[in-house]
Amino acid sequence: MDFEVLIIGGGVVGLACAAECASNGFSTILIERHDSFGQETSSRNSEVIHSGIYYSTNSLKANLCVPSNNNLYSFCKENNVWFNRCGKLIVAVTTEEEEDIAKLQEQGEINGVPEIQFLTARQARTLEPNIECVSALLIPSTGIVDSHALMKAYMVEAKSSGAEIIFGVEFLSVIKKMDGYKLLLNESSGEEIELSAKFVINSGGLAADKIAEQFGVNIDEAGYRLYPNRGHYFRVALSISKLISRLIYPVPLKSHVGLGMHITIDKSGQVKLGPDQEYCFSMPENQWYTFDESRKEKFFHAVKRYFPSLEMNDLSPDQIGVRPKVQKPGDGAKDFIISEESKRGLPGLVNLIGIESPGLTCARGIARYVVENFIK
Ligand SMILES: Cc1cc2nc3c(=O)[nH]c(=O)nc-3n(C[C@H](O)[C@H](O)[C@H](O)COP(=O)(O)OP(=O)(O)OC[C@H]3O[C@@H](n4cnc5c(N)ncnc54)[C@H](O)[C@@H]3O)c2cc1C
Repeated sequence: MDFEVLIIGGGVVGLACAAECASNGFSTILIERHDSFGQETSSRNSEVIHSGIYYSTNSLKANLCVPSNNNLYSFCKENNVWFNRCGKLIVAVTTEEEEDIAKLQEQGEINGVPEIQFLTARQARTLEPNIECVSALLIPSTGIVDSHALMKAYMVEAKSSGAEIIFGVEFLSVIKKMDGYKLLLNESSGEEIELSAKFVINSGGLAADKIAEQFGVNIDEAGYRLYPNRGHYFRVALSISKLISRLIYPVPLKSHVGLGMHITIDKSGQVKLGPDQEYCFSMPENQWYTFDESRKEKFFHAVKRYFPSLEMNDLSPDQIGVRPKVQKPGDGAKDFIISEESKRGLPGLVNLIGIESPGLTCARGIARYVVENFIK
């Protein structure tokens, strides 16, 4: 065996897995097809450190997110990764929406989210004078993180614990051996190389279903097929950005496809609106990231409901992120899939499928879960 563990994918989850495996003494290699880490979903998201309020009782998302929230703040402090535990408001704009925030408060308390507070309109206005609502929930443990610096810190930890991280190398195919796997890889120079490992962690993000299929998993039978769903973000003029000091979310979408068009603030104090949601699995892949400016009006109206100072010409196009969803249109919310595949005759293969939000928050929690349960 060349390595004990081979990780496919250098997004935040793959890098966290590399740090966790290497620091537990496993000989580890991570391969990434791009020239650097985090070129896909991990650098195209809201950069929010989620609290765990939204997810159903005992789901992996709930069980991993609540401790990951606290652990991530500690990790950032110890590793000089920029963060801001700024807190968040979930606002009810109409009296009908008050029922939704009451349910969220209950779910958050079941999940163990600390210090959730119900706020009247007047209390909410004291905290955020420019936000209009009939009531709100304050979740102090929500914050924001510099996702690039976080990934870099996981990579540095992985390398200093002995892991190899190689870029410009794409996984092509696999041969199952008696005690592991031989992977055929393609270097950006065009050269093909082979590496073998006892354990393979598939953290291929939007390609994780295709990678599982290469290993021989029937992805429809397994429920692993991904239905990519894209979300646009618009940036708000800095003069208006200054009017907000916490993250502001509406009540979540009834379709459970996203959390609703929210307000986030990045490291530079820049406010962003988004993401919206659109399934794009039937769109050519090279158009997923093509920005559709005609959505501006929809964004403006969605956020103007609770941020009345906003004007249409404050908005300019920002970015698009694509969610790796196992939830197809019309389905209810789905959990992360973290699966060791002995039951499919593939011992040592760990598939990480549908790692959408809160995957940035939970990356190290997912890595710990994988190592504790499956890398033995
Ligand atoms: C719009 C949006 C907003 C979000 N907001 C938040 C948020 O605020 N907070 C939060 O916690 N989470 C959020 N998320 C979720 C979070 O961004 C993801 O869960 C996380 O980034 C997933 O990381 P990953 O490493 O699994 O995937 P990725 O970052 O997609 O990494 C997968 C990597 O695998 C590589 N790869 C694929 N195939 C191959 C191959 N054959 N060979 C080699 N390499 C390969 C890819 O190139 C890629 O770099 C959001 C997601 C989206 C889309």
